Amino acid sequence: MIIFGSRSVYVTSKQSTGSICPSCGTKGSLRLIVFRRHVHVFWIPIFPIGKKGMSQCQHCKHVLNIKEMPEPIKQECITLKNKTKGPIWQFAGLGILIVMILWAALMTNMK
Ligand SMILES: [Zn+2]
Repeated sequence: MIIFGSRSVYVTSKQSTGSICPSCGTKGSLRLIVFRRHVHVFWIPIFPIGKKGMSQCQHCKHVLNIKEMPEPIKQECITLKNKTKGPIWQFAGLGILIVMILWAALMTNMK
């Protein structure tokens, strides 16, 4: 039984107008996509463990990981990745944990 693991969720995407697809050579065809990965236990997200950028060409459907991108596209993707914040619910488990710790501390003090 799998009780914990990690999952990537879609955060944002942006059409890159100035870049050229390294696969088919079409200009402005690349879509930059950012995902954020989080650790989950029993499917409850605990905390995020980092973002991942990739691009897909709308013309030839070619997918590139950040490390495979030519330099200008890579820079654009890293910029997008860095300025984008992931969803707050990816911290849900951490929030629950903090509430539990505070609750436990409160209970201890009341004795
Ligand atoms: Zn292409």
